Amino acid sequence: MAVSITEALDIISHTMTPLDSEILPIEIAVGRVVTQDYVAAFDLPRFNNSAMDGYAVKVSAAGQTVKCSEVIYAGDDPQMHLLQNTAIKIMTGAPVPAGCEAIVPIENVSTSDDNITLPSDIQHNGFIRMAGEDIRKGTVFLRKGEVVNAYTIASLASQGITHITVTREIKVAIFGTGDELRPHFEKIEAHQLYNSNSPMFAARSKALGCAVRFIRTSADTFEALEASIRSTLDADIIITSGGVSVGDKDFTKVAFINLGMQVHIDTINIKPGPLTIVGSIGRTVVVNLPGNPLAAMVNYELFVRAILRKMSGRTDHRHATVSTTMRSDFSVRGGKHAVVLGKFNGESFEALKTQMPGMVSPMQEAEGLILITPDVKHLEKGALVKMIPISWEFTREKKEDLYTH
Ligand code: AMP
Ligand code: MG
Repeated sequence: MAVSITEALDIISHTMTPLDSEILPIEIAVGRVVTQDYVAAFDLPRFNNSAMDGYAVKVSAAGQTVKCSEVIYAGDDPQMHLLQNTAIKIMTGAPVPAGCEAIVPIENVSTSDDNITLPSDIQHNGFIRMAGEDIRKGTVFLRKGEVVNAYTIASLASQGITHITVTREIKVAIFGTGDELRPHFEKIEAHQLYNSNSPMFAARSKALGCAVRFIRTSADTFEALEASIRSTLDADIIITSGGVSVGDKDFTKVAFINLGMQVHIDTINIKPGPLTIVGSIGRTVVVNLPGNPLAAMVNYELFVRAILRKMSGRTDHRHATVSTTMRSDFSVRGGKHAVVLGKFNGESFEALKTQMPGMVSPMQEAEGLILITPDVKHLEKGALVKMIPISWEFTREKKEDLYTH
């Protein structure tokens, strides 16, 4: 039975489960998702230290001229005690000495020999970076389900953590179906067609952090399909395209069912390409996408992306939308829950003039998509729309209404 786009995304959210985990050095964990909380083992900064190159002083010395004969450098372990009517020169990052109440930046004092004259206003703890003000010992600084990026790695390294537990890489297997299809590196006859979907899915899956292990084209027979399915069953997810319609040789779904596929989603109310199937054989997820390239792409961006996020263990696996406006008028046929692909310049959304399901060329232009309900027939210039980005990942934990009404 056909489900709505929202229902399909809910089913994905509820039926897909994260893969198991592995331990990686932090340097190569970018893009992976952590499978446990990380708690700070110590304060950062570890000790009170100077935020400036300057002078460690008492607040009561404001406006006075005091003696200064010692220096503390970053990396020093100062044993001295700051006395009344003195200052100690100190460099950025150096531990403040005992008795120090504030740091005065070099540019705010005047010096002559061993004497420095301090400004009349000195704030208590001014220019001192306090222990734990950045990361407090005992707090969670990285949560289970978060994606590791360069800045996460900075926090991990600052805590002296060398290895982390992350979800393992998703192994994707891809094959196209169709007697008319040939691989793009072979010669073809005038009546044949290159398989563009499989290289497209391979590249997209790789860009989303997956390991792509298998690409081929299957002929439209049960034997060929079953051979392709059997040789991909060790993958975490199999992505196919074509053969899901009502043509005489559209055997993809039945071939998967014959090999034990449990169907989670069978047909989605979406234009283009309602015939997407999501299922599983054992622990392997199966997605049968439409053959028409643009329909396949749209369904990949909406559903496969959500599946991969969930399998990766991300907490924020739901699509998020950007609120924007139409750059110019756009008319649609209406009557369907439809996808409109378009470009986004940071200010407004420009729907692609031609975007037919069987086309290839519009896809490389698409930076985002909007979902419209059946009653929407015309989107006026300036109308508010909600865009799901394609060019970048924009996600959240909570489900939101993705439709432009
Ligand atoms: P099908 O769903 O198998 O009937 O395919 C629908 C349309 O998509 C047909 O015109 C196919 O030739 C085309 N098509 C199917 N698979 C691919 C593919 N992998 N690459 C490019 N076009 C395809
Ligand atoms: Mg076909």
